[in-house]
Amino acid sequence: MKEVKRPKKQLILYYATALAVLLLFNLIAMPRIVENSVTQVDYGAFMTMTEEGNIGRVEISANYIVFTDKTEENIYKTGILEDPDLIRRLYEAKAVFSGEIVEEASPLLSFVLSWVFPILFFIILGNVLAKAFMKKAGGSNSMMFNPGKSNAKIYVKSSDGIRFSDVAGVDEAKESLKEVVDYLDHPEKYSSIGASMPKGILLVGPPGTGKTMIAKAVAGEANVPFFSMSGSEFVEMFVGVGASKVRDLFRQAKEKAPCIVFIDEIDAIGQRREGRIGGNDEREQTLNQLLTEMDGFEGNTGVIILAATNRPETLDPALTRPGRFDRRVPVELPDLKGREAILRVHSKKIKTDGNINFLTIARMASGASGAELANIVNEAALRAVRDGREAVFQSDLEESIEVVIAGHQKKNSLLTDKEKLIVAYHETGHAIVAAKQRGSAPVQKITIVPRTSGALGYTLQTEADNRYLLSKSEIENKISVLTAGRAAEQVGVGTVTTGAANDIAEATKLARAAIMRFGMSAHFGMMALEKHTNVYLGGESVLNCSADTLSKADTLVAELIKKQYDKAVSILTENREKLDEIALYLYHNETVSGKEFMEILES
Ligand code: ADP
Repeated sequence: MKEVKRPKKQLILYYATALAVLLLFNLIAMPRIVENSVTQVDYGAFMTMTEEGNIGRVEISANYIVFTDKTEENIYKTGILEDPDLIRRLYEAKAVFSGEIVEEASPLLSFVLSWVFPILFFIILGNVLAKAFMKKAGGSNSMMFNPGKSNAKIYVKSSDGIRFSDVAGVDEAKESLKEVVDYLDHPEKYSSIGASMPKGILLVGPPGTGKTMIAKAVAGEANVPFFSMSGSEFVEMFVGVGASKVRDLFRQAKEKAPCIVFIDEIDAIGQRREGRIGGNDEREQTLNQLLTEMDGFEGNTGVIILAATNRPETLDPALTRPGRFDRRVPVELPDLKGREAILRVHSKKIKTDGNINFLTIARMASGASGAELANIVNEAALRAVRDGREAVFQSDLEESIEVVIAGHQKKNSLLTDKEKLIVAYHETGHAIVAAKQRGSAPVQKITIVPRTSGALGYTLQTEADNRYLLSKSEIENKISVLTAGRAAEQVGVGTVTTGAANDIAEATKLARAAIMRFGMSAHFGMMALEKHTNVYLGGESVLNCSADTLSKADTLVAELIKKQYDKAVSILTENREKLDEIALYLYHNETVSGKEFMEILES
């Protein structure tokens, strides 16, 4: 779909106008004195010329003396000095006292030149600029000149529009939106039976899952115009501007109906209104206007509003009630099949060697969003170019997943041999504990090549399938795998390092969730100690318990982690020989594949 670009303004025109006015001003205002080419002389020269009787006409004003020589061809100017005798000497030199040597501008003209003209000049310049900005409004935020105009980007139908086939892995969302497409195609089918489409549809899901894309695809499939605006663009500096932008957007949309209006990040204006002192008036007014507009148009005008948010819980209930955004379409992170489909869609845009196992890549990229997968494919293509190849290989995609997870490889690492050995033990510890516990995800790769993200090495585990539920023992196993890095340092090298900071944070997060949210401790049972808000944005939690309970919970978290750490230590002590063998192998080879690792472990 192509964005309609408004023609660029010819700034040259304005500059030319300003230049012309300036020139005109200069021409008229140029003092006549310049024309007459007056020569500045010192007082001594003036006295000498007077003595010599070489003075024609003379004019004495308050600050200067202007005079000519006898021929009256040259005009001179000098300053005033205390000279009481001057008049007499001039008289004797037969000078003619005259007031017309230099023509002074008339008082009226000088008034016009010094006051009226500059003011006029600035008024004209101001007008020209204002017009320029007004015409540009709509494309940019020229609110000083044109406050209430919506600056929605308008996309029109075009052959390269996004279609449902471009959006992969979100089949449920597509299914719910197909009805909208059908309605836009055949509105009579719906109106004849008396059904009306929902006015607003809310797309909710984490960032980068394709919400914007799917909204565009609806417009592309139905072949209707697509208005797109971000919630934050409504909120301006002045109260009331957002509201008038909303009005303008709806006016435009009604003119172009049937069409899709897409409001991205609607939480920027649609946040719950609270009785706070000093609330955001502008945002509330904008929201009120949006509510009014949505009430104001009939369900069958052919304007469908799609809005996207990743914080649905913060939206004002008035916005989500029936009659407004009454349909909610979740656009979740893709599952294994979805990830594979997205990778396939995006790899169509690049040249591959035709030998790519997308399922393996999808497995490795567990938890990645559509946007991240698109990025992974692009990184792989860039890598192929960097290596001077013509096509993308499987290895490019695998490496680019690692780049996305952990950053680029650091070329010249500053690790000492001892540190490198410790990192090797650390990573081997993770891998062995993962492999020795039942139900842990298989190890895909172990590497101790430092990455730009700061990771000194990592162990990649990939689940074979989608996981929706985790059992208590699986959570415990995960925690023990996380603690196994530190355990291996302890068992293998006899010391502990700062390298485990990330593992510790992860293990604590998991253990805390198990106890405070998943009801997995015998002590608290099924009591929720914290509430999860903001599900799509990494999840912040709000405490839901007293300080006493919290301190008890902390003890339980520490105990849980300690128990799993001990378990990891005992697994590694039992497999001490393997730990040494694999750590040394890793130390020399820097990267070990999952297969090699299992072979050594099981030999
Ligand atoms: P959101 O609006 O949910 O934050 P976008 O729609 O802006 O995400 O997605 C950003 C980019 O990610 C898209 O341009 C597209 O390249 C890619 N992408 C995201 N989800 C998908 C998907 N389901 N299928 C194909 N590409 C996707």
